[in-house]
Amino acid sequence: MKGNEDSDGGGLMDIDAKKLDGARIAGEIREEVGAEVAALAAGGITPRLDAVLVGEDPASRVYVSSKAKTLTALGMESRTHELPEETTQADLEALVDSLNADPEVDGILVQLPLPGAIDTGSILRRVDPEKDVDGFHPENVGLLQQGRPRLVPCTPAGIMEMLQREGIEITGRRAVIVGRSDIVGKPMAMLLLHAHATVTVCHSRTGDLASVTRGAEILVAAVGVRSLIGPEHVAEGAVVVDVGMHRVTDRETVERLFPGNEKKLAAFSKRGAVLAGDVDFVRVEPKASRITPVPGGVGPLTIAMLMANTVTAAKLRRNIERQKVET
Ligand code: NAP
Repeated sequence: MKGNEDSDGGGLMDIDAKKLDGARIAGEIREEVGAEVAALAAGGITPRLDAVLVGEDPASRVYVSSKAKTLTALGMESRTHELPEETTQADLEALVDSLNADPEVDGILVQLPLPGAIDTGSILRRVDPEKDVDGFHPENVGLLQQGRPRLVPCTPAGIMEMLQREGIEITGRRAVIVGRSDIVGKPMAMLLLHAHATVTVCHSRTGDLASVTRGAEILVAAVGVRSLIGPEHVAEGAVVVDVGMHRVTDRETVERLFPGNEKKLAAFSKRGAVLAGDVDFVRVEPKASRITPVPGGVGPLTIAMLMANTVTAAKLRRNIERQKVET
C-alpha cells in the first residue's frame, strides 16, 4: 500500500513530495502577519476583530474560539459577541450597526450559519465593507470581480497563496472548480481567472461531471459531499485542492476510506471521528502531481487569511498600505 499523510511507511517520501502542505504555508503567513502586527503595535495600533456568534452550533463555537486564539497569539485583539438562538433580525442588525460605528473595531466576522429565522444576506450586506474581513459584502465581491481585490474571502484567498508560494503555474492552465458557493466556488473562480487560468465552474446540475473535471490541470473541490471526487474525475498529473471538511464517525467508513492506515484507525479509536474531504484522497493521490491533505491542507490557510484580512482592514481604515509579500 502507498502511504498517506499519516503514514510513516515506505511511500512517505512520494507523498510528502506531492503534498501541498497548507499547514506549513499557513504558518509562514501567520509569521508574516505577526511581523505586521508588531510594526503596527510600535505605532500604537492593535488590530481588533469582533466575532458575532448566534445560537449554540457546536462547530461554530469551535471555529470562533480557534480564530480568537490565533488572533491573540499574533498580538491582535479579539472580542466575541454571543447571542441566543432566538435573537431577532432587529437585535442582530443593531449589534452590527454598533460594531460598524465603533472606531475601536477593525474587523467584523458574522459566524455562519445563522439561525433560520435570520435573513443572512441582509446581515452580511449590513457589515461595513471596510470591516468585512470575510469579503462577503457586495462591494468587496464587486471589487474582486473587477480585478481590484480588497478584502477577499479567506478560503479561496488562502488557496491562491498556497498555489503561488508552491510555484504552481496558473497562467494558461485549465482550472476546474466543483462548487459555486459565494464563499468558496465563485470567488475561487474569479481569483483563478484574474491569475489567467481558463476556468470552468461545475455544480449540482453539471452533466457528466467526471468528463469536465478530467480536463482540469488544477482541480478545486468545494462540494460539501464526502469523497465525491474519485480517480475517475482526475487527469494524470493534475493539481488537486480539497476544500471539503467532513467528520467521519463510523469505523466502517474510516476503514473503506483509509484502508490499512493504522494511524487513522488509532486516531478514530481515540477521538471517535476523523476528518475526510470532498476528494477520495487515497485513490486520487496516485494520479495527482500535487494534492492537499485533509486535515492540514486548506483549513489552516483559511484561518491564516482571516488574520491577514484583519490586518488589511486595520490598515485600510487608517490609509496604511499593506505590504505585499513577494512570492
Ligand atoms: P455549499 O455552499 O454547500 O456549496 C456546495 C456547492 O457544491 C454548490 O455549488 C453545489 O451545487 C455543488 N454541489 C453539491 N453537490 C454536487 C454534486 N454532486 N456534483 C457537483 N456539484 C455539487 O458549500 P461551500 O460552503 O462552498 O463548502 C464546500 C465544502 O467546503 C464543505 O465541505 C465545507 O465544509 C468546506 N469548507 C471548508 C473550508 C475550510 O476552511 N477548509 C471553508 C469553507 C468551506 P449547486 O449550487 O447546484 O447547489
